[in-house]
Amino acid sequence: MKYIFLAAFWILLATVACQRTSSEKIITVTGEMEADEMGLTLPHEHVLVDFIGADSVEPPRYNRDAAFGIILPHIQELKKYGVKTFVECTPKFLGRDVLLLKKLSTETGIRFLTNTGFYGAQNNKFIPAQVQTMAAEEIARFWIAEFEQGIDGTGIRPGFIKIAVERRALSDFHARLAKAAALAHKATGLTIMSHTGPAVGAFQQLAILKAEGVAPDAFIWTHAHNETDFSKQVEAARAGAWVALDAFWGKAGQAENLVGMVVNLKQNNCLHRVLLSHDAGWYDPEKPDGAGYQPHTLLFGQLLPALKKAGISDADLHQILVSNPARAFAVKKRLLEN
Ligand SMILES: [Zn+2]
Repeated sequence: MKYIFLAAFWILLATVACQRTSSEKIITVTGEMEADEMGLTLPHEHVLVDFIGADSVEPPRYNRDAAFGIILPHIQELKKYGVKTFVECTPKFLGRDVLLLKKLSTETGIRFLTNTGFYGAQNNKFIPAQVQTMAAEEIARFWIAEFEQGIDGTGIRPGFIKIAVERRALSDFHARLAKAAALAHKATGLTIMSHTGPAVGAFQQLAILKAEGVAPDAFIWTHAHNETDFSKQVEAARAGAWVALDAFWGKAGQAENLVGMVVNLKQNNCLHRVLLSHDAGWYDPEKPDGAGYQPHTLLFGQLLPALKKAGISDADLHQILVSNPARAFAVKKRLLEN
């Protein structure tokens, strides 16, 4: 009897151990971590953006150490609020600098995610001309290679796929970007974050994912606050997509707008699909003194109190800022069952 008990005990321990080792992973610039270690997360921010365009963005037009000195205090500030993870959304050809992110992470202890992908908004200014004629499969191959081999020989791997489309129905090329993202998701399990305007582009991209057998929860509709018809955010969340409300720089009307959307999503039982961030920052090589850098902290001092006043509970906020990012960015293939 004693041995049966012991055997049962060891089976239980082994089961627990298996569950632990099979838990979901997040890929950060300093390596992998368990999804449940992600903690309080800002899921859409930037520390550096260079808008010069794909033909002139490399080599970098700034001194990395000088940029680091300007950015560092903004990241240190986040520790006061308990931020553990910072999702940096600047793509290649727009100033993605993964060594800078790694240095910031090592210095502050805050985990950083970076991305692979291409940014098609603003008339493809941030995508080299030769990429614009490529097939989706060819584009996806590039992103998959960054996932498998690391970025530009650094060994740093992307934690998600970032694409961007215009604020209208998708062009042929932007539909190809979405298809490439679906193909890369199937190969890597990286979540797709798409800078998208109103709902029309979001639902078109979800249809492209569906045609490729990719489930909506592989897709973050970033900048969903651009859609003024609140029923569309609910529709996307009910379909299973992530609805990211990410524009908060303390401008007049922004808090009211975001509060209205979050309350509506709560009333429709959709808070389990909501992400919230500033889309703030950043060091701009045109302004080497750091002028115009928007802080990554206004959410805590301004937006969260306004949300609480409107009936969003602490448990709701924990879901939005801690639980949802861990589920959204977990590296996992999300495929439709057929
Ligand atoms: Zn952004």
